[in-house]
Amino acid sequence: MSVLVLNADFTPLTVCTTERAFLLMYLDKADMVSDVKNKRLRTVQNSFPYPSVIKIRQYIHVPYKSVVLTRHNVFKRDNHSCQYCGSNKDLTLDHLIPKSKGGKSTWTNLVTACKNCNAQKGNYAPEEVGLQLAKKPIRPSYVMFLRFSSKLLCEDWIPYLEHKVSA
Ligand SMILES: [Zn+2]
Repeated sequence: MSVLVLNADFTPLTVCTTERAFLLMYLDKADMVSDVKNKRLRTVQNSFPYPSVIKIRQYIHVPYKSVVLTRHNVFKRDNHSCQYCGSNKDLTLDHLIPKSKGGKSTWTNLVTACKNCNAQKGNYAPEEVGLQLAKKPIRPSYVMFLRFSSKLLCEDWIPYLEHKVSA
């Protein structure tokens, strides 16, 4: 089980293991913000709530961590599905504004598309050939990417991750 670690100002910092979260709290470096319902850690004399979100006491200045723009990471952002038809087969990258029309390889101009949709789109804008995007492509922040990466997304994390989404 992973624990979401918030900075002293409640912005998401990273994700750590339960063991690490217990250690940070034990050392008085972090406080529990939210715990896992119906789960306690039992020792001989005590029982402790299981942390799902913790907040560190001392603000840590972190430089903005950006996610590297790669084919793999665009697929990951788009949940490995074609952004036009939802297929998860024969995926490729599609330039919304075609390269031939000056479209750049950027987070906001690249989407995951299957080979069929990509061929159908050709050198046109999606709306010109009747294709509709599932969602507007955005540049993911590092923390948002943790969310994409985490299969075991804890519901308690969502409020803290959502306000951090940057376009
Ligand atoms: Zn498709």
